[in-house]
Amino acid sequence: MTSIPVLLADVMGGHRLTQQEATRLLEARGRDVLRTVSAADEMRERKVGDTVTYVRNQNLHVTNICKNLCGFCGFGRKATDEGAYCHDKAGIQAQARLAHERKVTEICLLSGVHPAFTLDTFVDLIHWVHEAASGVHVHAFSPDEVAHAAKRGDISTTEVIARLREEGLGTIQGTAAEILVDSIREVICPRKVPTADWVRIIKEAHNLGLRSTATIMYGSYETPADQAEHLGLLRVIQDETGGFTELVTLPYVHTNTPIYQQGIARAGPTGRGDLLMLAVSRLFLDNFTNIQVAWGKVGLKMTQLALLSGANDLAGTMFTDDVTGDAGASGSDYLDPEEMDRIVTDLGRKLRQRTTLYELL
Ligand code: SF4
Repeated sequence: MTSIPVLLADVMGGHRLTQQEATRLLEARGRDVLRTVSAADEMRERKVGDTVTYVRNQNLHVTNICKNLCGFCGFGRKATDEGAYCHDKAGIQAQARLAHERKVTEICLLSGVHPAFTLDTFVDLIHWVHEAASGVHVHAFSPDEVAHAAKRGDISTTEVIARLREEGLGTIQGTAAEILVDSIREVICPRKVPTADWVRIIKEAHNLGLRSTATIMYGSYETPADQAEHLGLLRVIQDETGGFTELVTLPYVHTNTPIYQQGIARAGPTGRGDLLMLAVSRLFLDNFTNIQVAWGKVGLKMTQLALLSGANDLAGTMFTDDVTGDAGASGSDYLDPEEMDRIVTDLGRKLRQRTTLYELL
């Protein structure tokens, strides 16, 4: 079997990693971890140079009432549960106005999949946000939400996507992907769309001119081979459509989530797991330009190490994130660009503000 140093030399020479090889790298131990991280850092430098980007954005919470009640989530609730909420127009627009005052360029809708929501609800949300925060880019709705709206309206998912685009949606969320392996989805998110539907809907969005993020939620129940299979699917989609703006790596935050409390899932990824996920993503996803670290989930010091492991994007200022907070993380609400600049400059790199579509501002 090829040693990891030889495999890394092959990748740096232009070899496209197979899923089996990606699995081996995700399983690296000892100095092979640092070798993999170092190769990814060099690959990052070749591809995007020393610029580290962020977007000035704000999460806007719509509802935590959710039909899915995924086992890895501490945010979603039944309508009758304590703490369940669903904001009305006034509540949504108050958050959007605040975001506008904070000069954000992107508003990201963060929401459960409310069983009563329809396509018209989604259209209302887009309009309400634009009314209160004109000119802002609305980043919203996962393939699972698109599937839900299509089912409720007895229309196709392409009709849903086309209407959302017409009504002002800027980009679609590549969330609800979690791990795109059905045997894992059956355990961690059995009510979400199966893998084939997620892939079909995201491709439909790309083909209709709506770009999206790609995400991976790792460190709960899946194996390194499952992670590699997930990355493999993303790479195939990107080869076909070129519609992904970036990979967002989302470590599982375990504390207040059912599958951890039931002893099914492990306690999230380790630091080694976080760095290898970023590094292998950078090396395996040769058709992605941007690899993003989720500072709200890994903490600021690990975020800085992530920037040495293949990542080039710090996501957004956020201002609020109840999804991560409810799952048990702290310090996940707001990151001041001055603080971003401190960790970026400390590495000898340069921080730049970007738009959702990675235009530098
Ligand atoms: S992860 Fe999303 S879809 Fe699943 S329960 Fe939480 S809010 Fe609902």
